[in-house]
Amino acid sequence: MDFRDSPEEAAFRDRLRDWLAERAGTFPTSGDEYWARQGEWHRALHAAGFFGLSWPERYGGHELPPVYDVILDEELARAGTPPRPSLGYLVQGLGRHGGEELCRRFLPGMIDGTERWCQGFSEPGAGSDLASLTTTATRDGDAYVVQGHKIWTSYSDVADWCLLLARTDPDVPRHKGISAFVVSMHQPGIEQRPLKMMSGVTKEFGQVLFDGARVPADQMVGAPGEGWALAMTVVGHEREPATLGFSARYGKLVRQLAARTKGSAPPPELAWAAVEAEMLRLHVRRRLSEQLDGVSHGPEGSLDKLLMTWAEQAVGHAALAVGGTEDPELLNAYLYSRAQSVMGGTSQIQKNIIASRILGLGD
Ligand SMILES: Cc1cc2nc3c(=O)[nH]c(=O)nc-3n(C[C@H](O)[C@H](O)[C@H](O)COP(=O)(O)OP(=O)(O)OC[C@H]3O[C@@H](n4cnc5c(N)ncnc54)[C@H](O)[C@@H]3O)c2cc1C
Repeated sequence: MDFRDSPEEAAFRDRLRDWLAERAGTFPTSGDEYWARQGEWHRALHAAGFFGLSWPERYGGHELPPVYDVILDEELARAGTPPRPSLGYLVQGLGRHGGEELCRRFLPGMIDGTERWCQGFSEPGAGSDLASLTTTATRDGDAYVVQGHKIWTSYSDVADWCLLLARTDPDVPRHKGISAFVVSMHQPGIEQRPLKMMSGVTKEFGQVLFDGARVPADQMVGAPGEGWALAMTVVGHEREPATLGFSARYGKLVRQLAARTKGSAPPPELAWAAVEAEMLRLHVRRRLSEQLDGVSHGPEGSLDKLLMTWAEQAVGHAALAVGGTEDPELLNAYLYSRAQSVMGGTSQIQKNIIASRILGLGD
């Protein structure tokens, strides 16, 4: 396998490097400052032709092979700029399950960053067991009325739209009674409450309370009862290699930590982080080459997610071992890594999926 850039990829990388060189240091990469300006960063990337690289051209993407996303992730990490905002799973969810009309209306704004989105799936009593969700959407004329409580909703404070899962039929088996909607976040009957993370960040996510919010019936994504299929598409893509471009960032942090420990014995955590980061880098490349050969994955995304979690947490442990609690940036790398085994489905759930759907274990 030849991992070197083709002439077209090399030209793209050069153009991107030049553009990034002019912006290095101008966008914050962590903390509330990062979240506050994430939308601006998204729009700047898109306006320069560096966002939505593998998504359909008719919705504002570039229809390039997924390897361009990896080049983008590598160069963003190299330049020390923020990562690309990850919303591929929402693009895939709406793109696959929404009709052409909904896609034309909503995908361009989602991709170019002029309209911000959040994902309203989890609830206080429904995370891993998402099918037990209790938020309801009840038909009222040509609209549905939403009642319920969502939590851990990333970007809810800045979102214009929410891709919401709600129960539309309580009388059928629970997976079959869920529908998906595109709900406007700018209306009465929606209250957004920010949540503070242990890193101190307050702008990353919140809880959203729906009390009589309305959504036009034609903003249901797919047919009534098809919300579960959309949910599986979304979580499947949350766990895929396209969003695993972060491996470049882990590798960079490992090299920075190694440079800081030069001259003294590196902590064992750092050696292990180097192994994990390299394993993930090679794994992502293998997945990409499979993608380029047209192989599509289902439950294998759980393996990707688990490996990514192990790598990020190993790097987090190394950051703590090298920087202690005195270096805020390294402490933050450690603290944030704790969330990785929860977001997008916990590590235990990934192991359950691998056991039952890949290895065929259990009943
Ligand atoms: C940073 C971050 C961002 C997030 N963003 C969003 C978002 O934008 N939108 C959204 O809808 N949600 C979001 N989430 C929520 C996330 O999807 C849930 O936190 C996750 O699915 C786990 O659900 P829970 O928190 O309710 O934990 P629970 O499901 O209550 O799990 C608690 C513990 O029990 C374990 N457990 C549960 N069931 C089983 C089982 N069957 N077998 C073995 N162990 C089990 C879990 O692994 C976990 O350790 C986000 C979470 C984080 C951390």
